[in-house]
Parts: sequence; structure tokens; C-alpha cells
Amino acid sequence: MSESQGPQHPIDPIETRILDGLALANEIRAELADEIAQLVATGEREPRLAVVLVGDDPASRSYIKGKQRACERIGMASVEHLLPESSSQDELLRLIDELNADDQIDGILVQLPLPRQISAAAVAEAIDPAKDADALHPMTAGRLLAGTAELISCTPLGIMTVLDRYEIPIEGAFAVVIGRSNIVGKPISLLLQQRNATVTMCHSRTRNLPELCRKADILVAAAGQPRMVKADWIKSGAAVMDVGVSEVDGKLVGDVDFEAALGIAGLITPSRRGIGPMTITMLLRNTLHAFKSRRRE
Ligand code: NDP
Repeated sequence: MSESQGPQHPIDPIETRILDGLALANEIRAELADEIAQLVATGEREPRLAVVLVGDDPASRSYIKGKQRACERIGMASVEHLLPESSSQDELLRLIDELNADDQIDGILVQLPLPRQISAAAVAEAIDPAKDADALHPMTAGRLLAGTAELISCTPLGIMTVLDRYEIPIEGAFAVVIGRSNIVGKPISLLLQQRNATVTMCHSRTRNLPELCRKADILVAAAGQPRMVKADWIKSGAAVMDVGVSEVDGKLVGDVDFEAALGIAGLITPSRRGIGPMTITMLLRNTLHAFKSRRRE
């Protein structure tokens, strides 16, 4: 028996709900747009996100364009700072200092990955935690650990929002998270645990991964391994949050064998129009949140 083979699934397939991440993202963006319109109507300026890109990687350029378009559509301002690939760490840190000091800027996003000469950790630490829209600063991570975070990593916050909007019970649920990165695996494990799920965080050295996954009421796949989660890893009726994005033969695929999971999972997120649009939406949410918090200070 191969490692992936487990107990047989029920003969009768169940109806799997497929998340329309774009529709849900648009619904939340409309709510954010209303909130911004109300603020502006009372004489406030619009919230503003600074987007910093070092180099001209086409994928990164397209990501930042998408984020800026998303800002524009909800009435949020964005300013772009493009630095050449050869920029030094000091040059980038100087720009971040200026953005930290600029009262007109509410959120700062530095697009990753960065060129080799620049330490992503040093950059994360340089961003004012009050403007940490992408939730990368160690203080933001520490607040998440303490349960006091207001700015929360965008992808994990997007996943929690999906679970809530689809009314997936979290309290008491058994959740398995595949992946332990600082931006996805660790924060989503903490968020689920803080909502009283019982969480097992898995990684590349985990033994009996399929067996653990089969017990999960909520399964979050964030390993970056195309279609690693097979049909017989999934408990009937489970909420399957597929975060992974990999390119296989020119096509984007997730960590879950999506077609095979239909009829078994209760809810599943597709690799396109799934968690991705929710991630961008949470960046907007964090920027608006930072704006409101800074006004209160
Ligand atoms: P990382 O590469 O930083 O982390 C991957 C994690 O998965 C590691 O903890 C690794 O374990 C674990 N892992 C890798 N292979 C296996 C395996 N075979 N079995 C079990 N665990 C494994 O990735 P990220 O967390 O940054 O991203 C994960 C995926 O999500 C990527 O595909 C990324 O593109 C995607 N992503 C999508 C986003 C979206 O908006 N849709 C946003 C962010 C990420 P170990 O620690 O032992 O190495």
C-alpha cells in the first residue's frame, strides 16, 4: 500500500462548495470602499499605501500593479517607489525611513523577493510596526503570538475570513496545517489555535502526513508542492484551504489535487480565484486599519 492510500472514502460523494475567492474578495472590498467613502465624506484624506519594488522582476511588477489597482478601486491612494536591482540595503532602508516619517503614508509594502545584497529580515525590522501592512515586522509577529495583533499576515487573515464567511466551525475543530513558514504556516496555525481549534502544524520532516491530514476538519495546504494532497488524504466534508501556487507545464496548480478532492471536501479553494484575491484584500484591510489606528494616536 502506498503512503497516500488510506481508508476508502464514502461511496456517495458529497457536494463540494468551491470558494469563489474573487467574488468574496469583491464583497469585502466593497465594504472597505464604503468605509473609506464615509471617512472621506467627513473630511479625512484617503488612506495611502506605499509600494516599494527593488528591481524589475516581471512577476513582482505584475503583483504590485495588481495591488495598486486594488487600492485605486476602493478609493485608497497608493504611491509606487521603484528602485534599481543594484540598490544597496542602505538605500532601501533610507527610503523606508522616509516613508516611516511621512505622515501621509499609512501602510508600507516592500515586494518580496529582494535582490541578494538586501536582507529581507533587516527590511522587515526597518518598517514602522504601525505601518506594517504586510505584517512582516517581528513586533507584529510577536503581537500575533500574544494574541494582541491588529495587523495580521495577509494570507492567513484571508484564510480565516474565508472560514468565517462560509461559516465553517473553528472552535473544537481539528486543523492540520502543512507548512511552517513565517508568512503562512506559523501565523495560520496560531490564528486557528486562538479560535480554539486543535492544530497540528506539519512540515517536510513530519511522519505520517496523509494519516494526519485524513483526520482534519480544516486542512490548510501551504507547502508549495503541486498536487501533493491526494483525495484519500481528505476527510469527507473537510474545509480544504489550498494556499500553494506552483507552475506546472505553464499552468498554475495548487498543493491539492483539486479535481480528485471534489465530492470529498465540504469546501475547497481553487488555485485560481481562491486564496490569492483574499490575500490582496487583506493588504487593503490592514492599510485601512493602520490608517484608523494612526488617527486615534
Ligand atoms: P515556504 O517555502 O516558505 O514554506 C513551505 C513549507 O512547506 C515549509 O515549512 C516546508 O517544510 C513545508 N513543506 C515543503 N514540502 C513539504 C512536504 N513534501 N511535506 C510537508 N511539508 C512540506 O513557502 P510559503 O509558506 O511562503 O508558501 C507556501 C506556498 O503558498 C507556495 O506555493 C507559495 O507560492 C504559496 N503562497 C500563496 C499565497 C497566495 O496569496 N495564494 C501567498 C503566500 C504563499 P520545512 O519547513 O521542513 O522546509
